[in-house]
Amino acid sequence: MVVTIDGPSGAGKSTVSRKLALLLGFAFLDTGALYRGVALAAQWAGLESDDEAAVAAWLEGLDLAARPQGGRFMVLLEGRDVEPFIRNEEVANLASRLSAQAAVRGHLLGLQRQAGVLGDLVAEGRDMGTVVFPKAEAKFFLNASPAERARRRFLELKSSQPGLTLEEVLADLNQRDQRDAARSLSPLKPAADALVVDTTSLSQEQVIALLLDKVRALAGKS
Ligand code: C5P
Repeated sequence: MVVTIDGPSGAGKSTVSRKLALLLGFAFLDTGALYRGVALAAQWAGLESDDEAAVAAWLEGLDLAARPQGGRFMVLLEGRDVEPFIRNEEVANLASRLSAQAAVRGHLLGLQRQAGVLGDLVAEGRDMGTVVFPKAEAKFFLNASPAERARRRFLELKSSQPGLTLEEVLADLNQRDQRDAARSLSPLKPAADALVVDTTSLSQEQVIALLLDKVRALAGKS
């Protein structure tokens, strides 16, 4: 069974998806980490990210993989775990810019779908329910008010980026969401058959309980 969880940044997708996967005994795929992995590699290569032809050519030699390990998919760049290097706003913004390019999305589509054939999966991203796993059995779209999403993001980032302000996080988030929602390829939007959940005034536990109930009900039917 594939469960998809989409939504904008700070809507609570990551923690909810990870915990839901754990409770269900499903593998967890964070597709944002793949886009961030591409961005990190581009940064390290000093690539001119707006030159689409150059990006497409460069992707052919890119050694990026998603390897199942301990219930989640690890993103490896040339065999190395990228996790310690991708959780910052610079990489996030570059990921958002690169993710609008057809070659980048096409390159990652196969990697994401492969994860779905290995077994039960919770896949988190922006286009899981609409494009990557359109036949997924359970689809969710998590959202929250921009102020609440910025507050959550700020709390996540403030220890690793001490100079950062809430206003900067909000501005960054708005810019990234607008770009993600306005792009012509796989724009950020709920699938027609997704359950949209506003998490603004819900605790993580409440969101997880709601999703878990729904998935179990759907699993019982299939
Ligand atoms: O989810 P996360 O913030 O890690 O994603 C980073 C960026 O990668 C997003 O802003 C979005 O532009 C892009 N992304 C995407 N499609 C996905 C996952 C992430 O376009 N399925």
